[in-house]
Amino acid sequence: MHNETSTGCASRIDEIRQAIDAAGHPALLMVDTISSLGSIDYRHDEWGVDVTVGGSQKGLLLPPGLSFNAVSEKAREASKTATLPHSYWAWDEMIGANENGLFPYTPATNLLYGLVEAVKLLHEEGLDNVFARHARHAAATRSAVEAWGLEVLCNNPHHYSGSLTAVLMPEGHSADAFRQTVLENYNMSLGNGLSRLADRVFRIGHLGDFNDLMLMGTLSGVEMGLKRAGVPYRAGGAQAAIDVLVGNGASASLAAE
Ligand SMILES: *Cc1c(COP(=O)(O)O)cnc(C)c1O
Repeated sequence: MHNETSTGCASRIDEIRQAIDAAGHPALLMVDTISSLGSIDYRHDEWGVDVTVGGSQKGLLLPPGLSFNAVSEKAREASKTATLPHSYWAWDEMIGANENGLFPYTPATNLLYGLVEAVKLLHEEGLDNVFARHARHAAATRSAVEAWGLEVLCNNPHHYSGSLTAVLMPEGHSADAFRQTVLENYNMSLGNGLSRLADRVFRIGHLGDFNDLMLMGTLSGVEMGLKRAGVPYRAGGAQAAIDVLVGNGASASLAAE
């Protein structure tokens, strides 16, 4: 996965490619970009990926229903001679129909119209700006978490995610009870922890169609929720995020007047 949605860690796909090449291994490199495409910089061709899978429902500003594959020549060749029964990795029917501008099955036409608009919006903002916006929101979120005295689950800055931030609950406190408090009081749904992280983390999403005010609403909701749920924390996380978003020196000091 390019972005690991349950932990909020992003993988360095280019480095994985280099490691595969360094080992001289023939494996196909297949990457799930569902929670990163359109939020974190990703390069199928440049990074030598064989199969990239994306979906409409996260960074691409759309409802669920579309999925995309980018497929290398090597993967197409492998698909032709693969002896395992396969359906998802059989692209010939789709590629054959696409060559005439058609689909082999009824496509989700409404979503394709939506996709045209979504891609337009992303290009209007500029992809570099889109990625920078997500990185900035992630940095502001991590500042808030640090100011609260809580811990970001991803502890390696090389793998910080622009899409979402998973936050560890203090020992002895239930992440799910906290999430429930936030949901009931503020109608805000935070992501849950999965498998080993169940009830231990909550996740703050900051991907897709998201702006500074939406982030501040989210972080304020988390901070109010921490207080309401009786979770030990230090006040000031929302302020720390503002400092990242606006810059520390941006406000004229009242005392100076
Ligand atoms: C959300 C998500 C999925 C799930 O996509 P579905 O369309 O529900 O199967 C898969 N992979 C990643 C990385 C995701 O974030």
